[in-house]
Amino acid sequence: SRYYVQTRRPSGLPEKELFELRSSTLPALESGEVRIRNRWLSVDPYMRGRMDGVSTYIEPFELEEPLEGGALGEVIESRHDGFGVGDRVIHMGGWRDVAQLPGDQIQHLPQHDVPEQAFLGVLGMPGMTAWLGLEHIAGLQSGDRVLVSAASGAVGSLAAQLAHLKGCDVVGTAGSSAKREWLEAHGIRAVNHRQSVEALTRDLQQAAPEGIDVYYENVGGAMLEAALNVINPFGRIAVCGMIAHYNDAEPAPGPSNITHILLRRLRMQGFIVLEHMEHYAQFVSEVGPRVERGEIDYEETVFEGLKQTPDAFLSLFEGGNTGKMLVRLEGA
Ligand code: NDP
Repeated sequence: SRYYVQTRRPSGLPEKELFELRSSTLPALESGEVRIRNRWLSVDPYMRGRMDGVSTYIEPFELEEPLEGGALGEVIESRHDGFGVGDRVIHMGGWRDVAQLPGDQIQHLPQHDVPEQAFLGVLGMPGMTAWLGLEHIAGLQSGDRVLVSAASGAVGSLAAQLAHLKGCDVVGTAGSSAKREWLEAHGIRAVNHRQSVEALTRDLQQAAPEGIDVYYENVGGAMLEAALNVINPFGRIAVCGMIAHYNDAEPAPGPSNITHILLRRLRMQGFIVLEHMEHYAQFVSEVGPRVERGEIDYEETVFEGLKQTPDAFLSLFEGGNTGKMLVRLEGA
């Protein structure tokens, strides 16, 4: 098996040299274990947090140990009754070509007529995150005025479309004109989030002259500050992520208008999708058919080959992806 390790802890944006490719011979399978040849690897912004040596809702990556992440592969050997050779499965043994795991850490793909890698994106963890944040955290209602940041990414592109399909007025932010065109083509008014708080506030006011009721937060920093300027009284903020801060070497100063949370009686709640997976079956049965029918669209940005995994991951912080960032391994 070939796999990536992290050789030291990063400060700021990780240097590529901190990721090293190693190889080892896997031991024979123990009873209950399954061996999987990975076809697709997911790289996700939350992985940056696990690279610091700090426990949060999840344990940090161990130095010199195989990194982990969402992956989709084919069973090539099994000593578990639930899995046979050839089965397509999803699991957390990513950043490597061949994974060996206990069967209880592996899932079959749900039955939907979509390309398999959709289960790492629009119908997987990121998709579930979009749906959960809107439905369970923000309590989205038809007619809400909604703002989604990083709206052309894996999570944001589904959040923005789901809100639009529910009859909401949706503004989405994205860092390039191509991404903003994609949003506009899907009925979402687009604003550039890579600008000053003042310019961003002005653009948001123009795009949402009646303010916003729900802010789906993926970015933080200046984006949050501008969102707090345009949010209506009793607005709700689902805090999904704050990618603008993940590479901060020093803690950033808070939004200067943080008192708006009080003055406008806002409700702001963070959430972690992994703690709500009991809703996954409902999510996939609601959203799966809409993806199959083409009512919901999704994009993918694909890097080729295991050796591109660090580049794919680092590119997330430069906006190198539209939609889900994936690595395709040989044979997929
Ligand atoms: P994306 O597909 O959205 O990729 C990241 C995007 O973020 C980039 O393409 C870029 O888009 C934007 N971005 C990167 N750096 C910055 C920056 N400094 N300032 C502004 N924008 C930036 O990733 P995901 O959809 O996987 O994740 C989106 C968010 O959701 C992240 O914050 C992530 O941590 C969070 N998340 C939270 C989960 C939870 O359980 N709470 C689960 C999954 C994800 P652009 O070019 O438009 O700037």
